[in-house]
Amino acid sequence: MSAVLTIDPTACDAYGYCAELLPELVGLDEWGYPVVGGEPVPAELVARAEQAARHCPRRAIRVRTRVEVRSSASRP
Ligand code: SF4
Repeated sequence: MSAVLTIDPTACDAYGYCAELLPELVGLDEWGYPVVGGEPVPAELVARAEQAARHCPRRAIRVRTRVEVRSSASRP
């Protein structure tokens, strides 16, 4: 299981709190809008990612949990 951070660009107002709370995963573009890489959130940062989502004034951040399912093709 892993978590991924997503940002809804139509809801975001570029306040920048997310980049202050989670600089390891969120950068800002030249207009102050957040940029995320889309890579899985490291386990040690999941709680802070959820905190950033709770503090987003526009509720534009989501921390989605993914359940990884192995296909039968990947089994030995
Ligand atoms: S805290 Fe929310 S509104 Fe502010 S920049 Fe981040 S995603 Fe956008």
